[in-house]
Amino acid sequence: MKLICIGRNYTEHIAELNNEKSEHPVVFMKPDTSILLKKMPFVIPSFSNEIHHEVEVLVKINKIGKHIDSKFAHKYYDEIGLGIDFTARDLQNTLKEKSLPWEKAKAFDGAAVVGDWLNKAMFQNINHLSFSLIKNGDIVQQGKTSQMLWKIDELIAYVSQYFTLKIGDIIFTGTPSGVGPVSSGDRLEGELEGHKMFAIKVK
Ligand code: ZN
Repeated sequence: MKLICIGRNYTEHIAELNNEKSEHPVVFMKPDTSILLKKMPFVIPSFSNEIHHEVEVLVKINKIGKHIDSKFAHKYYDEIGLGIDFTARDLQNTLKEKSLPWEKAKAFDGAAVVGDWLNKAMFQNINHLSFSLIKNGDIVQQGKTSQMLWKIDELIAYVSQYFTLKIGDIIFTGTPSGVGPVSSGDRLEGELEGHKMFAIKVK
């Protein structure tokens, strides 16, 4: 399975990193080895001094598809989740300056937190979900799926033009503003519409 990740999908986050708003979604991938194993702490890798949290709504693909029309995209997922796209920001900035790919900064072991899954039928409208990341008891990121520049169904349509979506693939839909550093000893918890979706420790 693969993790397809979207960048720059929330206006306020684009501004906080001084990025340009793009004409199309920014897309990158993480391998399955980047998924943080359940109940394991996130260990800060030795190659970075600035690991950032990016809380993101996740979508799990349940049907194979290619060139999916956004009208039919809702048939390709039943479950919505929440996770973290951990980013070695210092390394990513170096790579961006040199116009090199981001994988070393985004796709390393443990860089993808995949929390619990909820059936989308629990929600009236998946484009009106609120979610947050809580660090050591304080809310550090808050977002609403209504603020996405490209909505979930549009993202599925877009990425499936390039990549065949397979059962079990996960889409990371981008982070809202409030990204920031994590340190050893931190505790991170994710909430989606009041549901606790994950809780991890940083080592
Ligand atoms: Zn991200």
